[in-house]
Amino acid sequence: MDDSAYDELVSSLTPQESGGGVTSYRNTVSVACPACEEPFDDLVVVHDDETPLELSRMLDICVSRHDGDVLLFTHRH
Ligand SMILES: [Zn+2]
Repeated sequence: MDDSAYDELVSSLTPQESGGGVTSYRNTVSVACPACEEPFDDLVVVHDDETPLELSRMLDICVSRHDGDVLLFTHRH
């Protein structure tokens, strides 16, 4: 994902929490997931590959990357 796409994406989302190498955003306006083009629920930006994540609540995840960060797009069905 390039910088302009990333900036546009994040500007549409609601910041939720950050810390521990992770920043999460809530998708309140049904932005389409860049990977599967279905609206996602949350974007989790992982700034540190070593960060442990609680993924048990995430049933379906699409993954992208930006500048070495891992972007997790979560879908709850
Ligand atoms: Zn997706």
